[in-house]
Amino acid sequence: LLMAGTLAYDLLTCDRNRGIADPERRIPWGRPVPRREVLAAFPDLPPERLTGGVLFADGQMYNPPRIVLSVLRAAAARGAVMANYAEVVGLRMDGNRVSGVEVEDRLGGGRFPVFARAVLNAAGPFAEPLLQRWLGRPLKRPSTYSRDACFVVRRRFAAPWALAVMGRSRDADAMLAREARHLFVVPWREFSLIGVWHRVYRDDPDRVGLTPSELERYLEEINGAYPGLGLDLADIRLWHAGLLPFGEEKTGGSELSYGKRSLLVDHADEHGIHGLVTLIGIRYTMGRGDAAKAVDLVTRKLGARTPRPPTDRLPVFGGRFGRFAELVRDLERHPRVPLAPATARALAHNYGSEASRILGYAADDPSLAEPLPGSTVLGAEIVHGIREEMACNLADLAFRRTDLATGGDPGPALEACADLAAREWGWDAARRARELAGVRAQFPRFARQTA
Ligand SMILES: Cc1cc2nc3c(=O)[nH]c(=O)nc-3n(C[C@H](O)[C@H](O)[C@H](O)COP(=O)(O)OP(=O)(O)OC[C@H]3O[C@@H](n4cnc5c(N)ncnc54)[C@H](O)[C@@H]3O)c2cc1C
Repeated sequence: LLMAGTLAYDLLTCDRNRGIADPERRIPWGRPVPRREVLAAFPDLPPERLTGGVLFADGQMYNPPRIVLSVLRAAAARGAVMANYAEVVGLRMDGNRVSGVEVEDRLGGGRFPVFARAVLNAAGPFAEPLLQRWLGRPLKRPSTYSRDACFVVRRRFAAPWALAVMGRSRDADAMLAREARHLFVVPWREFSLIGVWHRVYRDDPDRVGLTPSELERYLEEINGAYPGLGLDLADIRLWHAGLLPFGEEKTGGSELSYGKRSLLVDHADEHGIHGLVTLIGIRYTMGRGDAAKAVDLVTRKLGARTPRPPTDRLPVFGGRFGRFAELVRDLERHPRVPLAPATARALAHNYGSEASRILGYAADDPSLAEPLPGSTVLGAEIVHGIREEMACNLADLAFRRTDLATGGDPGPALEACADLAAREWGWDAARRARELAGVRAQFPRFARQTA
C-alpha cells in the first residue's frame, strides 16, 4: 500500500527534476526497502510485525532563515527596499482606499508613515489579528490555526534516512483509515529533527510556545514509537513552534485536517476596501507560487504594465552555480582562503555562489578566516552579517544570519561571535553580557548543561 502511495507521489511530481543538471540536487524516485535492509538501518525497530519499508525522497533546507535572506537579497538587487525591526502598527486610509501604513521602529523607537498605493498583508498567523485591529472586522471565513511543533536533538541514525513512525493523533484526511499520523525523525546536519506535532491553537499568536510538560509528552510518544531512541529532556537542544492555518474543522473539534490552500484575499471584494490584499501562506514550499499570485493580483489592481519577473526560473541570491560538489571543491581550493571540507560544505550550503563574498572579508583580515571554536561558521560570516545583512544584535547573528545557534547552544563559539560583534559595534562589557544572556535565554533551560 505504501509503495502504491509512493508511486502515485512520483507520478504526480514526475517533472520535479526538470532543468536540474546536478545529480546531487535531483530528487530520486521512491523504492521498496527489504526488511533486512530496514533492520540494518534501524536496528532498534521492533522486528515482529515488520515486513519491509518504502523509501521516498524529498528536498530539505539546510538553513531556512538563509533561504529567506536569499529571496530578500534577490528582491533588493531588483530594487525592493528592506526594513528590519519595523512593525506595521496601523493602516493609513483615505476614505475606503488604503494609502499606506504606520510603522513603529522597534529598535530606535518612534513611528513613521510609509505611503503606498497598495499594501500586501503577508504577516502569516498575525495577518488576521492585524485585520481585526485595522478594520474592526474579521475575514468572512476566519481560519483556525494549528500550532506545529518540532525539536532538535544531537543524535543521528547511522543511515542517511529519516524514519517515519506512528504517533498517536489521527489524521482526519487519510483516505485509508490508519491508526495515527506519522511522526518523523529526520537527519539534519549533525542533528535529528523530530516532529511535527499539531495542536489546535486559539490563543494570541504572540504567545505561541511549548511547555516542558508538552515536550515530555512528545518525548514519551516518540520513545514509545521507537524505544531505541531513549530520549529525555536534556537531549532537546532547541524546539520550534509556529502557527499554520489548517483545513475545515468541525466547530469546537480538536482533530486536525491539513490545510490545503493558502488564503489570498482581495479586501475590495471582502470588505469594500481598496488597495489592500492579504496572503496567508500554508507551506514554505508553496511560498514562491503564492507570492507570484499575490503580486499578480496587486499589479493588476494597480493597472501596472511591467510584467512580473519569472521567479520560477530566476536564481535567487547565491543560486547561480552548476554542480554543488564543484562549488564545494572550489571553496576548498580557494587561492587566498583554502577551507577545510566541512567548512567549505557549510559555506556552500549557506551562501551558494555568493560564498566568495564571505571569503573576501577573510582575505582582507586573516583572523576572520578561522571557524569559530567547535563550529563551521567563519568569523567572516559574522562581519558579513553585520555589514551586508542588517543584523542588529547577537540573536540575529546566531539564529538568523548564520548556522551558529540553529542547532542549539554552540558553547564557546557564541562567546567568540559576541567578541566579533562587540568589536564591530563597539559594545562595552555590559552590553556584550546582555546580548549573550538574551541569546542563551532562547535555549531550553533543561538542555543548557549538555551544550
Ligand atoms: C514546526 C513547523 C514545521 C514546518 N515545516 C514545514 C515544512 O516541512 N515544509 C513547509 O513547506 N512548511 C513548513 N512549515 C510552514 C512554514 O514555516 C510556513 O508556511 C511559512 O513560514 C509561512 O511563511 P509566511 O512568510 O507566509 O509567514 P511567516 O513565516 O509567519 O512570516 C510572517 C512575517 O511577518 C512578520 N510580521 C507579523 N506581524 C507584523 C507586523 N505587524 N509588522 C511587520 N511584520 C510583521 C513576522 O515577524 C514574520 O516574520 C512549518 C512550520 C512550523 C511551525
